[in-house]
Amino acid sequence: SRKIPKTADERLMVAVRIRPLKSDEPQRCLYAINKKDVFLEDDSDRNNALRQKRGSDKQYSFDVVFSEDSTQEDVYDVTTSSLVKDVLNGYNATVFAYGATGAGKTHTMVGDPSQPGIMVRALNDLFNAVKDKEDEYSVTMSYLELYNEQIRDLLNPASGYLELREDSRGRNIQVAGLSEISTTSTNEVMLLLQKGNKARTVEPTAMNKTSSRSHALLSVTVRHSIPIDKKDHLRMRVKQGRLFMIDLAGSERANKTKNRGKRLQEGAHINRSLLALGNCINALSGGARYVNYRDSKLTRLLKEALSGNCRTVMIAHVSPASNQKDESRNTLTYADRAKNI
Ligand code: ADP
Ligand code: MG
Repeated sequence: SRKIPKTADERLMVAVRIRPLKSDEPQRCLYAINKKDVFLEDDSDRNNALRQKRGSDKQYSFDVVFSEDSTQEDVYDVTTSSLVKDVLNGYNATVFAYGATGAGKTHTMVGDPSQPGIMVRALNDLFNAVKDKEDEYSVTMSYLELYNEQIRDLLNPASGYLELREDSRGRNIQVAGLSEISTTSTNEVMLLLQKGNKARTVEPTAMNKTSSRSHALLSVTVRHSIPIDKKDHLRMRVKQGRLFMIDLAGSERANKTKNRGKRLQEGAHINRSLLALGNCINALSGGARYVNYRDSKLTRLLKEALSGNCRTVMIAHVSPASNQKDESRNTLTYADRAKNI
């Protein structure tokens, strides 16, 4: 029943979500023109009489643009609900939240109990789909943090750093000792994700007190046991689909945080993962024969899900505030590069 995505367009969706302007933020420099286009003003200081022209006013087009009025439900329905169906049919799929710290990534992915995000909605839909079919299907989740190229279990942070293992051909990548849990309660999922997020590594930087330099990766695995012979229910084959939902580390550049030493190293790691991810997505969207997944742990973990005829959704997050303009421009450029080759 599933249409196999053949072209890069069908495999990769690039979306942009603009979060609402806050009451204490300066004026706006970024607008959704319609459901596909974003406009970024070069200089929103309208009182600057010396300004000659709007040097780099720029319009960007994407598969979909969610304005600040968009709801969590809108975003889930358009970006992720069809991936959930793919996963039930045994395919892999990935959703990324990209953007600078404070741009709204965690709101989109986790949200709160009154406005649950993509992770919670996807799990809820998966659990509902297999309800009453427990003997046929199992749904399990794991939630890990990638910080400074090190892996921690966000469902069991006390377990320390975990190893990434793969076979000699670089296949069958697994995180040794990562907890896989099964729960069917949406409330419990929300609590687990919120608790997991509290365990994420957060450290103060000059720019942002709660700058998140870690990637959080939720993986949901659906296993469907199908009898090999309809008359013989003892011999089963298992069809497996996996949905990755990833709240990426803040994409702000390391040189903006006025730090030395440790911070810069973290920045380099973050950039390495995000750069490696961008390179992989570019290569895939350009139909490249060879894609290098080995450059970062993030891309190694996602190798299986990014290759083949799996679908990928990138949701780039931007603040409309003029003091975030450089970050917004960087994010739109990254997303634009991912989209077109
Ligand atoms: P990030 O994870 O990218 O650092 P957050 O998701 O934590 O950003 O968002 C920063 C702040 O903005 C939070 O207080 C969050 O609740 C709020 N926020 C972000 N996006 C939205 C939105 N679409 N609607 C309402 N509030 C939002
Ligand atoms: Mg966050």
